[in-house]
Amino acid sequence: LTEMLSDPGLLATQAYIAGQWVDGEDGQFEVTNPATGEVIAMVADVSRAQVAVAVEKGRVAQKEWAAKTAKERANILRKWFDLMMANQEDLAIIMTAEQGKPLAEARGEIAYGASFVEFYAEECKRIMGEILPGHQPDKRLHVIKQPIGVVGSITPWNFPNAMITRKAGPALAAGCAFVARPASETPLSALALGVLATRAGIPAGLLSIVPSSDAAGIGKEFCENPIVRKLTFTGSTGVGRILLRQAADQVMKCSMELGGNAPFIVFDDADLDAAVEGAIACKFRNNGQTCVCANRIYVQDAVYDAFAEKLAARVKAMKVGNGLEAGTDLGPLITEKAIEKVEDHLADATSKGATLICGGERIGNEGTFYAPTIVTGVTQDMKVSKEETFGPFAPLFRFKDTDEVIAMANDTIFGLAAYFYAKDLSRVTKVSEALEYGIVGVNTGIISTEGAPFGGVKQSGLGREGSHHGIEEYLELKYICLSV
Ligand code: ADP
Repeated sequence: LTEMLSDPGLLATQAYIAGQWVDGEDGQFEVTNPATGEVIAMVADVSRAQVAVAVEKGRVAQKEWAAKTAKERANILRKWFDLMMANQEDLAIIMTAEQGKPLAEARGEIAYGASFVEFYAEECKRIMGEILPGHQPDKRLHVIKQPIGVVGSITPWNFPNAMITRKAGPALAAGCAFVARPASETPLSALALGVLATRAGIPAGLLSIVPSSDAAGIGKEFCENPIVRKLTFTGSTGVGRILLRQAADQVMKCSMELGGNAPFIVFDDADLDAAVEGAIACKFRNNGQTCVCANRIYVQDAVYDAFAEKLAARVKAMKVGNGLEAGTDLGPLITEKAIEKVEDHLADATSKGATLICGGERIGNEGTFYAPTIVTGVTQDMKVSKEETFGPFAPLFRFKDTDEVIAMANDTIFGLAAYFYAKDLSRVTKVSEALEYGIVGVNTGIISTEGAPFGGVKQSGLGREGSHHGIEEYLELKYICLSV
């Protein structure tokens, strides 16, 4: 991996705590390339005590950082953004090596991840308070916004860069300190961000990166350490519930980006070719391993067969392989367990009457490759209607009318993203409003941008990331009652 990088200095394997690169007190853990199964790095395994040090140093650094002008913070963050973009290729190679996604997607993620730092570097100049009408003649009611303090972050492996930047960007911009615990599958992308943070002049201790194989222990430290005032998490709903329970003891503020179970609905007045392209982008991005990936594809009766045929033609032409090879559409899945989930959903569907159209098998003798799969005749009693597959598995459900499909689409505990394709204006308006989701894509399969509020309703989470709303997650309101 080192030989592939133009700047090998980006490949850090120690932890970044209090501005120092240090070994882990719990030894090291392996990072493997899912395309080959090879161990590509041994990374510092930090102890809970080391996380406590990072938190304490964060407390000190945060005070000075918050005292800077917004413009001073903005200039440093802007530099961090510039360095990410200047090193886009190396960061993408590191990401593909540890995560598996095709290099083109990894480059895209670096640009996407960096955009949050750019956006919030600009946005922090617009953290504005208010003066409200007084309730008595001598009273002036001032409302100011202040940074929450030290933030603990836990993120998953599917977007090893962007899941961190869209938390760290607004947190640092707001004046908070940030301690990031990256997923143990993908710590190298996070540590590379730490290298660039030092170069950008982000003050020592303000940002720490604490790789650890003990996610639960780090989660406890964040929740039990009274200096940590905010927990931001992206991952499964199951782990989100555990963290919310733990955070209750200190009444800690939490942002939770949890699981999805996105419906993707194709109505009979849709542009079918556009819907197929949208479904490809939405279902197979990152090999189906995103929380906004289409999980259930509902197609209206009259266009069902035509849609299935067009989708199958596109899917059969997709190239599965090592993400570092040119022309790869789909890389490996992250782990063996991820493949087993796809196999489980497929076996469940076919045992209950669904038909396999294409895919349905592992590919090759090494790595965790699985052929993109389509099944038709899928119904609400199958596992995939309730659970996120998180893999290259496209189940096609058939529906008759709008009310029926809205009921089916909303029949889930999740509410992150939903998509539909239709042309009729009245239908577009009604369906957009009726879907119980935090994000709705209309005639598009790609909805993510730093400029929009990303987040879910129901058990998909709490809070929003991105846009001017995203920075509020890291600010507290203070009401100052002034008697004059
Ligand atoms: P995913 O299926 O995306 O890995 P998880 O919710 O299992 O979703 O993991 C998301 C992140 O949460 C990962 O970094 C994982 O290591 C971490 N994690 C898992 N269990 C816990 C826990 N009990 N406390 C804190 N973090 C956890």
